[in-house]
Amino acid sequence: MESDRLREELLMLVRSLKSQLELERDLHRPLSWLAVGAEKTTPPGKEPPVPEKETSAVPGALSIGEGSAQNGRSLDEIFRDVEHCSLCSLGKTRRNLVFGEGSPCAELVFVGEAPGAEEDLQGRPFVGRAGKLLTRIIDAMGLKRENVYICNILKCRPPGNRNPLPEEIAACEPHLVQQLEAIRPRVICALGTFAAQTLLKKKGTPITVLRGRFHDYHGIPLMPTYHPAYLLRNPAAKKQAWEDVQKIMKVLGEENSGET
Ligand code: URA
Repeated sequence: MESDRLREELLMLVRSLKSQLELERDLHRPLSWLAVGAEKTTPPGKEPPVPEKETSAVPGALSIGEGSAQNGRSLDEIFRDVEHCSLCSLGKTRRNLVFGEGSPCAELVFVGEAPGAEEDLQGRPFVGRAGKLLTRIIDAMGLKRENVYICNILKCRPPGNRNPLPEEIAACEPHLVQQLEAIRPRVICALGTFAAQTLLKKKGTPITVLRGRFHDYHGIPLMPTYHPAYLLRNPAAKKQAWEDVQKIMKVLGEENSGET
């Protein structure tokens, strides 16, 4: 019914506004970000700045963004190929492979580093503390977690959450490339150093240098930003992360309005 639809839209709008206000409030009280879900009492701050888009080309021969999905495989097919993967030693230590989750037609894909303990237990990406912060950021962007896609460079947890090894990245990255080919999102957000350096082939370039501007990932704009786990440890960086995701929102908004 029309009234139900309007009610649902209104609820979504309120939810998104609430998240944005909470996020902006946190930006002006950086220490409170350490406590995700803390008391929400402070009024929102001023409007964040409108960012400018920058690009830098990344050469590549992949068919992402060039209509590959018509000829490529679905996420389900890719999952069936990798669910018992033993290409690297992480296959021996994982509890669950964390393939990724969200909409197969997502306009926005978040790529993290690797599953942590909670993700390994549940077989789902970003469900621990950092994941809760990511979910809040997605809410604040006016999006729903189930409408974006969330995955990682590595599908299996490195023991003790150590950094991914080059050979693990080399073994696992093709799965991610296939996922991105299947989804063909409008925008990719690389969360943290490993995701940004791996996707952009910029090993050694710090996230502080890569973040904040769009790079070209085989025809898809890619925004590197800080990893939510880093933001939990360094709450002052949330202001920059919020600026980064606003640039993504701007691109998604532009592209959506161009369609109508
Ligand atoms: N950190 C990541 O990079 N990915 C997850 O799924 C969880 C935490």
